[in-house]
Amino acid sequence: MGKTSGSEELDSICIVGGGTAGWMAAAALAQRLGRSTTRVFLVESDEIGTVGVGEATLPHIRSFNEGLGIDEAAFMRATEATFKLGIEFRDWGKLGDRYTHPFGDYGRMEDGLSFHHLWLRLRSHGSPCRLDDYSYAVRMAEENRFTRPQTDPGTLQSSFGYAYQFDSTLYGRFLRDRAVSAGIERVEGRIVDWTLDGGTGHVTSIQLADGRSVAADLYVDCSGFRGLLIEGALETGYENWQDWLPCDRALAVPSEVRRPLPPYTQATARSAGWQWRIPLQHRTGNGYVYCSEFVDEESAREELLSNLDSPALADPRQLRFTTGRRRKFWNKNVVALGLAGGFLEPLESTSIHLVQEGIAELIELFPDRDFHPGDESEYNRRMALNFERVRDFLLLHYVATERSDTEMWRYFRAMRLPDSLEEKIEAWRHRGHVVAYEFGVFLPPSWIAVFMGQNVLPRSYDCRAERLPIDALRYRMKSVREDVSKAVGATPAHESFISACGAASESSAAHVRTNPYDL
Ligand SMILES: Cc1cc2nc3c(=O)[nH]c(=O)nc-3n(C[C@H](O)[C@H](O)[C@H](O)COP(=O)(O)OP(=O)(O)OC[C@H]3O[C@@H](n4cnc5c(N)ncnc54)[C@H](O)[C@@H]3O)c2cc1C
Repeated sequence: MGKTSGSEELDSICIVGGGTAGWMAAAALAQRLGRSTTRVFLVESDEIGTVGVGEATLPHIRSFNEGLGIDEAAFMRATEATFKLGIEFRDWGKLGDRYTHPFGDYGRMEDGLSFHHLWLRLRSHGSPCRLDDYSYAVRMAEENRFTRPQTDPGTLQSSFGYAYQFDSTLYGRFLRDRAVSAGIERVEGRIVDWTLDGGTGHVTSIQLADGRSVAADLYVDCSGFRGLLIEGALETGYENWQDWLPCDRALAVPSEVRRPLPPYTQATARSAGWQWRIPLQHRTGNGYVYCSEFVDEESAREELLSNLDSPALADPRQLRFTTGRRRKFWNKNVVALGLAGGFLEPLESTSIHLVQEGIAELIELFPDRDFHPGDESEYNRRMALNFERVRDFLLLHYVATERSDTEMWRYFRAMRLPDSLEEKIEAWRHRGHVVAYEFGVFLPPSWIAVFMGQNVLPRSYDCRAERLPIDALRYRMKSVREDVSKAVGATPAHESFISACGAASESSAAHVRTNPYDL
């Protein structure tokens, strides 16, 4: 029998870039490495700065923060965060439509049968009630109320999750302080060049404008859209998904806080894209994500500014992007995270989540000095699937529509879909089942929310929904609606909850002190 020996730990890791992705990676690696002797550097450039947007998240961020031992109230105060129960979509299925994609369930599962089948049956008997009326999370959002989920899984009050809306630049700084006190070495400077090993093609060092250089075994490229090492040094290539997700610009503008403070993000479909509204404690984030083929910048700016629901605090700032992903996220000794790895547009707030996913996979498949090629290909397989699943889910919003009022909406109606999405839609139409994917952050309740919210109804429902006589079903459904209404009535206002749990930032606490009746 051969002798088993320990593999050799990396001597050093260099994180390139100090945006949200860079500092999330630094904080997580500092914790992962614990007492190891591996040194971790993070190089960032004040001159270049960060992308400066990214405000809405998914519930998984809570486990990321908890894993780092972060206190929720302290984090919320530091990042001007609010709670997020989901996203309200307006004008997507058709003009005038409105639905919420909640982080939670509708009603309760009945003997293994998803609740929406019961709703479909009741609807076929003429019930006018919305599916949203059976969701505690949606109804809380509609009334600007919030509480944390209960832990007893049998209760309605445990049927949802939540995320945050925060200032991602402040989040980066918050993580930076933790990472630096945990031993991460921060280097300020602009990277201007790199050297590659003639044999392996690995990056061996990076050079800064002032002549210093940093050498490491592993590089985590968090340099933003430019992908300094993954593309600049290694020429990995980019899989362009603009045919499916053609939006390529965004105009972002902050506006005054709007009260009462909504515990949800809003995404309103527009003529050539969609507009976000994200409530933070100190301001509201707004932006128009649009397709430059269908609208010019000036018209997009006008459309954005005329649809703000509080006064703008600055001029809109334009950002450009190409939807898609790097052909490999891990190439040789470089792993790309965040915008350096790819970008799919912010419709379902997935970018920060994909950073988190990339960090978790990296920690699981963490390399030693041999850089086993199997780890690289497994990492790339998993991340490619994660990106593809998100792409399909985003695309569903654009194609599940009756809209054809502008050129962009007509473009989507004529589109040939990826096979993976085509199959998913067909299975749904057949009898309301959501085929589970391997990987992918969005589980069946999210797909059901968008299908139903955008009027893609299945041809039939599960026959188990016929088990109860119709009057008994009516009675049961009514009692669910009443339970939801009662629970919502007993839930505090979102802003009161933020104050009560000690999460109000200074700006928000000052408002509460001077306007006690606003909540
Ligand atoms: C319009 C828009 C809206 C978005 N909304 C959301 C959202 O609601 N939710 C969400 O999850 N995500 C959102 N995102 C994505 C989110 O902003 C990013 O995923 C996140 O901020 C991570 O960015 P990053 O750290 O990868 O890159 P960046 O923030 O661009 O950071 C790059 C870092 O690299 C450094 N750097 C670059 N070049 C050099 C160099 N030569 N030398 C030294 N340092 C260098 C920079 O200084 C900086 O520190 C949005 C993105 C866009 C474009």
